[in-house]
Amino acid sequence: MNYLSTRGDPAARHFSDILLEGLAPDGGLYLPQTYPQVDAATLARWRGLAYADLAFEILSLYIDDIPAADLKALTQRTYTEAVFGTPQITPLKPLEPGLALVALSNGPTLAFKDMAMQLLGQLFEYELKRRGETLNILGATSGDTGSAAEYAMRGKAGIQVFMLSPHGRMSPFQQAQMFSLKEPNIHNLALHGVFDDCQDIVKAVSNDLAFKRQYRIGTVNSINWARLLAQVVYYFAAYFQATRSDQERVSFTVPSGNFGNVCAGHVARMMGLPIDRLVVATNENDVLDEFFRTGVYRPRGAAQTLETSSPSMDISKASNFERFVFDLLDRDGARVRQLFGEQLATQGYFELSAEERARMSARFGFASGRSTHADRVATIQRCHRQYGQIIDTHTADGLKVALEQRQAGTPMLVLETALPAKFAATIEEALGVVPPRPAGLDDLESRPKRVQVMPVSVDRVKQFIVDHV
Ligand SMILES: *Cc1c(COP(=O)(O)O)cnc(C)c1O
Repeated sequence: MNYLSTRGDPAARHFSDILLEGLAPDGGLYLPQTYPQVDAATLARWRGLAYADLAFEILSLYIDDIPAADLKALTQRTYTEAVFGTPQITPLKPLEPGLALVALSNGPTLAFKDMAMQLLGQLFEYELKRRGETLNILGATSGDTGSAAEYAMRGKAGIQVFMLSPHGRMSPFQQAQMFSLKEPNIHNLALHGVFDDCQDIVKAVSNDLAFKRQYRIGTVNSINWARLLAQVVYYFAAYFQATRSDQERVSFTVPSGNFGNVCAGHVARMMGLPIDRLVVATNENDVLDEFFRTGVYRPRGAAQTLETSSPSMDISKASNFERFVFDLLDRDGARVRQLFGEQLATQGYFELSAEERARMSARFGFASGRSTHADRVATIQRCHRQYGQIIDTHTADGLKVALEQRQAGTPMLVLETALPAKFAATIEEALGVVPPRPAGLDDLESRPKRVQVMPVSVDRVKQFIVDHV
């Protein structure tokens, strides 16, 4: 399997070439040259597989430069009951007939990002060892990504993590989760600034090519193809649990920010998984809902990005969205370059033609909706009252939109993207109770913390890296 760039760079690359990369050199994102097609016989064979075996089968279709026995060992080591809490790894939680949550948040950091990041940790360690190289991961986080990356990379040979976060702005739970890690390869840097300041420093350091090369700086951001690929697996796993035969179709509703999670659903659908509709749920930051309703994609600046009670969806620009648009435009790299490379930069938005919009609704089965803080609170209350389940604020955005968009006769599966314990304040507001915590985390906030507080300074961050590699 070769990989190409959404902006037309013709160089052929294999999986391991792009595993440690971010953007393609032409500014595009990597996608496989074709989507492997899964026929009825394959679906029937996969239906009975354990999660790790299913992951191996799907990854094997996209990875031809890691020996099968090694890939099998990596997936077996990643998707274990010990790490993800149940033998199914992503069990369904039925709410009522035809409506269920897909539990994706039982990994170590209580959000769905563990599903991909845990595999990425194994793949990075494997590939670096094979090459005899080391990597220093520099990232910025406002919460979920940083902790998922740290828990995936902790103790991994050849890898150090330098994670920037805005000092005092993450929830106490999120801070404690990251800062209590003891592994010497994990470094927490809390900056006197906001998330965008942290993000700008990561960009500045990455743009210093000499520094980047000398200190082997890498990232684990959401445009990484391996992360997306790992997420494809749970669409299959959820489908098999929700259906009895491969004649049935299901729909998914996905709480969305950077369009990574739902893009994995798009890939599963392109492979032939019988998905009826993929419903994109946003919060008040509704760039994607606007696009699917109107055909206009208008990213916003940091100043117009609202702070909401589903903070992991507070994005201004959906960094994975270009992958879907590439498929939508029949993989016309020149047109994608024109839209993303030129039109967005000069006029700040682009608009699909009437013909492109018609193709989108005929071929790709997307729908969308948005939710507000009041909707989240009401949905958390309703879910608790009607189904006896406490859901987190992001999953509530999903459930609110799913209830509006579901269609009789087609099961609707809502991806649960975090556990309520992570976003306790809104749960208390809605239900008047503190959400339950998974076992073993009761004393999290009182554990000793390892964090370096520093000003917003590129030089100070660089110096810290130099001193610690
Ligand atoms: C990251 C995240 C999202 C958004 O996922 P995308 O892949 O960026 O669309 C939604 N909910 C939670 C809890 C998250 O951590």
